[in-house]
Amino acid sequence: MSDANPYALLFEPVRIGPVTARNRFFQVPHCTGLGHLRPRADAGVRGIKAAGGWAVVSNQETEIHPTSDLSPFPEGRLWDARDIPALRLMTDAVHEHGALAAIQLVHNGNHAVNHLSRAPILAPSEMSADLAMPKHARAMDKTDIRELRRWHRDAALRAKQAGADIIYVYAGHSMSIAQHFMLPHMNTRSDEYGGSLENRVRLARELLEDTREAVGDTCAVAFRFAIDEMQGPDGMQAAEEGRAVVELLADLPDLWDVNVSGWDNDSITTRFQPQDGYQNDALAFVKQVTGKPVVGVGRLTSPDLMVSMVRKGIVDLIGAARPSIADPFLPTKIREGRIDEIRECIGCNICVASDNLGIPIRCTQNPTMGEEWRRGWHPEVITSKGKQNEVLVIGGGPAGLECAMQMARRGYEVTLAEASSEFGGRVARESRLPGLSAWGRVMDYRLNDLTQRANVRMFTNSALDAAQVAELGIGNVFVATGAHWRRDGIGRNTQRHAPDIAAGATILTPDDILSGQMPPVGPVLVYDDDNVYLAGVIAEKLALAGLEVIFATPVSLVSSFTVNTLEQHRIQARLIDLGVDIRCNQTLAALGTGNASLACAFTGRQLPVVCESAVLVTERIRETTLHASLKPLNLTTLELIGDAAQPGLIVDAVFSGHRAARDFERPKQDADKDWFRREIIDLREES
Ligand code: ADP
Ligand code: SF4
Repeated sequence: MSDANPYALLFEPVRIGPVTARNRFFQVPHCTGLGHLRPRADAGVRGIKAAGGWAVVSNQETEIHPTSDLSPFPEGRLWDARDIPALRLMTDAVHEHGALAAIQLVHNGNHAVNHLSRAPILAPSEMSADLAMPKHARAMDKTDIRELRRWHRDAALRAKQAGADIIYVYAGHSMSIAQHFMLPHMNTRSDEYGGSLENRVRLARELLEDTREAVGDTCAVAFRFAIDEMQGPDGMQAAEEGRAVVELLADLPDLWDVNVSGWDNDSITTRFQPQDGYQNDALAFVKQVTGKPVVGVGRLTSPDLMVSMVRKGIVDLIGAARPSIADPFLPTKIREGRIDEIRECIGCNICVASDNLGIPIRCTQNPTMGEEWRRGWHPEVITSKGKQNEVLVIGGGPAGLECAMQMARRGYEVTLAEASSEFGGRVARESRLPGLSAWGRVMDYRLNDLTQRANVRMFTNSALDAAQVAELGIGNVFVATGAHWRRDGIGRNTQRHAPDIAAGATILTPDDILSGQMPPVGPVLVYDDDNVYLAGVIAEKLALAGLEVIFATPVSLVSSFTVNTLEQHRIQARLIDLGVDIRCNQTLAALGTGNASLACAFTGRQLPVVCESAVLVTERIRETTLHASLKPLNLTTLELIGDAAQPGLIVDAVFSGHRAARDFERPKQDADKDWFRREIIDLREES
């Protein structure tokens, strides 16, 4: 690479103990929902990052012992030697592309409730398990601590055998015992592991020393440490004990991987923290205290920001989890000066939700994420076209845009027709809601690509009907016409008893709000039977506009699905702060003129509510009219994609558009055969 590249600084090698990173791009450990249950798919994820130019690719938290059993969540596992081959798949995949492989060892303390192993739960002091389970953790005695050190040391040796170049000691995210020992609210011990900070750090120090002694000749020892709990004086703060810990352990690890905890602060969504590099203020001191290299994160996608962080001496290595998920080829694109081709993370935390649901990772921006091994998808490569030449995509939402872009990459002549005056569909509209502007990156990335291609024709203000499609004469048609929200209040909880809606009731749907309509003056009832993010953000918008908002939902939390994206507590707090009147466990029974009736989800008892209007966020109806009217044309290909095929999240629409483009002109038996590759349980009995 020439020195003229303004980002040359990012491609300097960095020495980390006994190993050398080829550049400054460091994929810090992140979960994938694959882990020990789906090791080939996990290796596929890590391998593609290495191929994309990352210098270091880490796995995810890796349980060292059955007392740290995160089942049913499939994280990494190194309980004994039989777990080594699965992890070797990952290190081999990373080494194949010239990157270093890191393994993040963990004992999760009371965060592991040991469902599978039924082992005792361990903690610095007596306390409840971290998750709402009727189980308690026991205070570790000295024998337990000795045992823990032995397990960690043995796991480090196994990690080395599995091919790790960097081995982590983990004290972060409120999820690991080395951190639990540091925190006074979790550690009330009176022995040499409790009391003073030096004592509370003792376990972390011992684990670092043990790891170095066991594997430090060839492996670098990394310390992942949460310097700030973001609780103010109620927790560890970067300027106080956070700094003191770094001072105490300064040059003991070969690498400091620093962040803030808990996970909801470290991986905060753009809705609540739009600023990239949001951890810089907290971590800026670390390099002043240690002579060892430092890696930090903060949704870093801008190469200018990365360079400034290195120049200012904030970090040596650019850490990334989500930006590497959204674009595994981010380093390569920066090296080659293809900055506008970076698929920027939108900070939606759908990737995080996958892990919280225990399902394979997926990404709104990158539909190939998690599909590298099981479907053979590559984020930058797609098969060239077959015999067909032309494709028509109808509807320019996320599904249509992704389908059109991938078809164009395959070499087809692509026509994209959109009924409205703008491309983007629901993404364009939803990104205008409070806090969601970064979601617009889903369309920006695709429009930037499409508008540069000679083989693409794009039309807005083009609501096609069957006659126009016939006239166009394109035989392969993909219909991405989306879905619209119901107006009748029917949803998951009102299937048996549809709400009684008066003729004169003023009803709005999310589509009305998204197209700029506002409820009349007076109290407005936002009724949420969808439970994802939309009703919550609409309530926020209406409250910000000065309306009196009543938010009712049959479930017990506002926007309950967003527990998975680590946002729920912030969403509910925001609505409370905005004065929204929240009524949980209430189903819509009736809607009149100037009032509504809510029924208790448990007893059915009804309660009147005064409201001038209601926004009903319940279910969507697929827009299939055009698709149905095209059937008689006997087109070569006619396929529904996106929300028109199955209403879901934006991630699902993008995936659907991508899959349709991949499978087009593929022999059906091939597409059916490898619907996806599975990792089948080995039925041999262990000896
Ligand atoms: P998805 O999430 O599946 O992409 P969206 O609702 O975001 O769905 O986008 C669907 C898009 O399809 C909207 O922008 C809508 O204007 C457009 N559309 C709907 N019907 C037609 C049609 N007959 N011709 C062209 N575009 C259409
Ligand atoms: Fe970013 Fe969302 Fe993709 Fe996660 S799912 S990497 S937050 S775009």
